[in-house]
Amino acid sequence: MIVPFVHDAPAQRVVFGLGSITRVADEAARLGISRALVIATPGSGARLGARVAELLGPRSAGLHAEAVIHVPRAVAEAGLGAAKTGKADGLLAVGGGSAIGLAKIIARDLGLPIIALPTTYSGSEATSIWGISEGERKTTGRDPKVVPRVIIYDPELTLGLPPAVTAASAMNAIAHCVEGLWVPERTPVTTAYATEAMRRFGEYLPRAVADGSDREARSECLVAAWLAGTVLVAGAGLHHKLAHVLGGFGLPHAETHAIILPHVTRFNLAAAGEARSRLVAALGDDDPAGALERMLRGFPIPQRLRDIGFADAKIADAAAQIAAQHVTEPRPASGADVRAILTAAF
Ligand code: NAD
Repeated sequence: MIVPFVHDAPAQRVVFGLGSITRVADEAARLGISRALVIATPGSGARLGARVAELLGPRSAGLHAEAVIHVPRAVAEAGLGAAKTGKADGLLAVGGGSAIGLAKIIARDLGLPIIALPTTYSGSEATSIWGISEGERKTTGRDPKVVPRVIIYDPELTLGLPPAVTAASAMNAIAHCVEGLWVPERTPVTTAYATEAMRRFGEYLPRAVADGSDREARSECLVAAWLAGTVLVAGAGLHHKLAHVLGGFGLPHAETHAIILPHVTRFNLAAAGEARSRLVAALGDDDPAGALERMLRGFPIPQRLRDIGFADAKIADAAAQIAAQHVTEPRPASGADVRAILTAAF
C-alpha cells in the first residue's frame, strides 16, 4: 500500500563532473552574483577555498575559511560579519557539512543565495536544514532560504578526502537513506533515491576508502551522496534524533551516525517489513543490520561510543531525552529500548 504523501522538494540546479570546479564563475554569473564570499574550513579547506576565490576572479568577495563543525554561535557571527563587510551578494561554500553549515546560517539571516561545492558525502548541500550550536546545545530548523541554489559536484575535489572522513561521512549519508525508508514523510521519490544511493555506496564506498584516487568510485559515491542528501527532505526518525542528542554531548557527528546505525537499524527492522526487503535488495544481504555492522567494522573509523569519548553514565540521560520525544515510527522506542541500543553501541 502506498502511504499518502506530500513531496516538497527544493528546486536545485546540480552540475556534476570531473573538473567542474572551473564552472564556479559561470554559475555565479548565472545567478546574478557579483560578489561571492567563499566559505571554507581552515587548513586544506582554506587552500581549496583560495583556489575557488581565484577562479571566481572579479566575482569573489574574498575567502572566509573559519567554518567549524556544528556552527558555534561565535563562528556564525564572524561569518555574518565577513559577509556584511565584504558586501557579499552570494555565498560559495566549498567543503563538507561544516562549511556548508556556516553558509546556511549566513543565508538564513541575510537572504544570500548559496552555491555549494561539497567535498564530503554527508549531504547537507541537498537539504533545507540549518543548525547552530551554543555550548552543548544544538538547535536545528528548516528554511527554504538555506537550500543551495546550485550544487557543483566535482569528484576531483574528493580525491584527497582521508579514508576516515570518506567512510564516516558516507555512513552518515547511508543513515539518511536507511531512515528515509521508514519515516512517515517518505515518498516514492525519496524511497527510490534512498535505495539507489545505498546500492551505489554498497558497491563503491569500500573502493573509495581503500583507494581515494579511484575516480570511478569517487564519482559513484558523490552521486550517492547527492541522492542520500535529497532523501532528508523526508524528515528524521529515531536514528537522527538519537544522533542529535549524542551530538549535544560533544560527540563527533559523522562517527556517531556510523556507530549507532547498525544498532538502530536492527531495532527498527523488526517492525518495518517493506523497508527490510528494500534494504535486503539495496545492500545485497539478507541481514541488513549485520551488513551495516560489517561495513562499519571494515572501515578505519571509531567502532564504539566508548571510542569517541561517550561516558556510559550518560546513557540514561540520552535515553530519557529520546523517550520524551515519543518516537513511534516504525516502532515505538521507550527509554528502555534506547538504553539497550546505546548500551550495545557503547
Ligand atoms: P566536515 O565538513 O566537518 O569535514 C570533516 C573534516 O574533513 C574537516 O576537517 C574538513 O576540513 C575535512 N575535509 C573536508 N573535505 C575534505 C577534502 N576533500 N579533502 C581533505 N579534507 C577534507 O564533515 P561533514 O561530516 O561533511 O560535516 C559535518 C557537519 O555537517 C555537522 O555539523 C553536521 O551536523 C552537518 N550536517 C548537516 C546536514 C544538514 O542537512 N543540514 C546533513 C549532514 C551533516
